[in-house]
Amino acid sequence: MRNNLLQKVYSPKFFQEKGHQVIDELTAHLDDKLNEKSEKAIQWNDPEEELKFWKDFLKSGDENDLFKTITERTTYVHHPHYIGHQVSPAAPITALTGMISSLLNNGMAVYEMGMSPSAIERVVTDVLCEKIGWDTNARGFLTSGGTLANLTALLAARKAVLKQDVWNEGLNVPLGIMVSEEAHYCVDRAARIMGLGEKGIIKIPCTESFQMDTTVLEEKYGEALHKGIAIFAIVGSAPSTATGMFDDLEAIAGFAKKHGLWFHVDGAHGGAGIFSEKYRHTLKGIENADSVVIDGHKMMMLPTITTALLLKNGLYANATFRQKADYLLTDSDHEDWYNSGKRTFECTKTMMSIHWYTMLKYYGEVVFDAYITQLYDMGASFGEMIEHHASFQLAVTPMANIVCFRYVDSNFSQLQLNELNAKIRHQLLEDGEFYIVQTKLRGWHYLRVTVMNPFTTTEHFQKLLDKILLMAQKSVTPVTTIC
Ligand SMILES: *Cc1c(COP(=O)(O)O)cnc(C)c1O
Repeated sequence: MRNNLLQKVYSPKFFQEKGHQVIDELTAHLDDKLNEKSEKAIQWNDPEEELKFWKDFLKSGDENDLFKTITERTTYVHHPHYIGHQVSPAAPITALTGMISSLLNNGMAVYEMGMSPSAIERVVTDVLCEKIGWDTNARGFLTSGGTLANLTALLAARKAVLKQDVWNEGLNVPLGIMVSEEAHYCVDRAARIMGLGEKGIIKIPCTESFQMDTTVLEEKYGEALHKGIAIFAIVGSAPSTATGMFDDLEAIAGFAKKHGLWFHVDGAHGGAGIFSEKYRHTLKGIENADSVVIDGHKMMMLPTITTALLLKNGLYANATFRQKADYLLTDSDHEDWYNSGKRTFECTKTMMSIHWYTMLKYYGEVVFDAYITQLYDMGASFGEMIEHHASFQLAVTPMANIVCFRYVDSNFSQLQLNELNAKIRHQLLEDGEFYIVQTKLRGWHYLRVTVMNPFTTTEHFQKLLDKILLMAQKSVTPVTTIC
């Protein structure tokens, strides 16, 4: 070959050498973080500082240090002190399937560009549909993230429910969906992308416990109809992201059925609960949904991004992106479930099905029950600890592994407490021993924990609370008001 550089790039020997090095380094990383040999859950650096570091590294860093340095200078989701955003500490075996997907690089849009992973995708999505409680008419496919899956579900809903052919003719009547005010922002975004505008997003207020107030559905529906808005779908959150509270899926299903609406369940976070014997009840009514989204990278230990969109009636899976409304296949037509690109928004996608299948093959369905049940149990335990602590207050009793709480002190005003909790969270970030996040609920600033690591224990929670107390005491001297 004329070009030695390209020969070097594709050298199997080089791949093998580097591969062994990476596996050794990642193994050390896992051991270090999982077993808490290193103290920190995040190595916080200011973005500008981090930018400078990597600009310099490109010029003068040692390439042999590259992978290790990337791994070190970031967030350690495998550390039991990582209790922040909702991504799983990936099951290590799925890092290997990630490598297979990257190296084989089959594009997946058509069957020929990913035969094993396409068939595997069918197996995996069939398992998920069955777990939901659907019959063999149900179908699913994998797509790149809950955000895209929610948009795709709403597009399927629009095609299925409305008489108007919006796909071909564009919007000529105002359309709307109903969704709780606590739903993930991507639902709002999807509706806007679909041209519904703000008036087409019928926000349903929540109860005290941050769940969709299903008692006002009829009234809100009536109001929208009166304004000439054609509602075609209602979305339930299972659970909503900020607080981890589940909407009453049974009540929403009943309402949807009565009015002929598509019922979509955004189970990006908690849809995986279908595998938990103990917590399946959080999803009561999910079997009545027309579509369900489940993120594998949240509550199923898979790498980002691995998402399933599941439809009770598989015919609609093929209809969404078709130019003609010819999707109602006759019995003799065959359904080409294996050509992924017809059903997904994206053309090329990764071979994400192999992560899911590998988990099923190596550990069986029970592994998902074990993981979800453990995390929800720990969410409940942490909730109880907060509830019994005089210096902390819960936003709501947790239903899942998401816990929102704040430091309280009756000597402080709301504004002062908000500032203090925000300051605590920032100090925790810079300190790095624990990684937690924050959210604003009804004007109050809350600290927010999502238990994602099955090895996080109540001792860890205690340590976190002690640390926060210390920070609170150090960082404030009550503002003495001059009378
Ligand atoms: C995380 C989340 C999403 C977005 O999913 P991505 O995979 O991050 O795109 C949507 N809805 C809910 C309820 C979520 O928790």
